Amino acid sequence: MKALFPGSFDPLTKGHLNIIKRATAMFDEVIVGVMTNTTKTPLFSLEERKRLIQETVKGYTNVSVIGVQKGLTVDLARQVNADVILRGIRDIQDCEFEKQIAIINRQLDNQIETLLMVAAPQYSAVSSTIIKEISRFGGDISQFVPPLIANAIREKINEKN
Ligand code: ADP
Repeated sequence: MKALFPGSFDPLTKGHLNIIKRATAMFDEVIVGVMTNTTKTPLFSLEERKRLIQETVKGYTNVSVIGVQKGLTVDLARQVNADVILRGIRDIQDCEFEKQIAIINRQLDNQIETLLMVAAPQYSAVSSTIIKEISRFGGDISQFVPPLIANAIREKINEKN
């Protein structure tokens, strides 16, 4: 079975990584789909977000990373032959939101199932947005993101200032 884990990953956090790691034990293949969320303005370009994930997951033999500038998740799932769309849920808000998307995606393509994986408790308050906010004000983000990504965030924020 093949799973597509789509998201904006701006950038990848240890919460996302925990989902990827758990998925590698469940699926033959996990494809991380770096996409554009039209409701968010990204800090990193699509290429940068993709490259950071590739570097981070290079130890996993059954994970690959693709980037798509635009398009529907179900269309991407179909293109890559995924059986499942995988998403993470941290709290009741994620749960409601992801449930709605899962229902709509099933109406768009009933061949593709959505699997919602509950966030690890230690990362259930971690979001890319909050990490960027902490870093902007000089806070230590090392417990929330892999070292490579912590450096990339610091560099990017210094560059922008
Ligand atoms: P999007 O912009 O599509 O919501 P994100 O990169 O914010 O993309 O998140 C991608 C997926 O990962 C979503 O399903 C989101 O709920 C999930 N996710 C985000 N942060 C965490 C976390 N700390 N633990 C588990 N899942 C998470």
